[in-house]
Amino acid sequence: MDCLFCKIAAGEIPSTKVYEDDEILAFRDISPEAPCHVLVIPKIHIPSMDGITPENSAVVAHIFEKIPEIAKLGGAENGYRVISNCGPDAGQSVPHLHFHVIGGAKLPLHVFPEKE
Ligand code: AMP
Ligand code: ZN
Repeated sequence: MDCLFCKIAAGEIPSTKVYEDDEILAFRDISPEAPCHVLVIPKIHIPSMDGITPENSAVVAHIFEKIPEIAKLGGAENGYRVISNCGPDAGQSVPHLHFHVIGGAKLPLHVFPEKE
């Protein structure tokens, strides 16, 4: 399958690894929006949050069990935010489920900047 994050998970495309185990990989976003900007992916291909099912949700639970450790490893010492963009309106650009773990700085509160 021609999927960027499947290739990163397989080590065919390099990434700056933050955490890895048999089921998941965490690596630094190539275009970081904060000092800590790590992407956490399942190694199995799930296209987006819309593709989470009873059969594959254990890996999603595993991701969330590991996120506190991954956030610390990534440099978020004082809190962090987890975002998963799903579908066109959210601006999902890579169709392999991923969770952005963002921190290391005080983050803006609102999705729409005019609310600041
Ligand atoms: P999204 O827009 O939510 O689908 O997030 C995709 C993210 O992947 C973006 O923040 C990109 O900067 C990031 N990205 C794209 N290609 C790479 C890559 N080769 N290595 C690391 N991050 C990447
Ligand atoms: Zn994939």
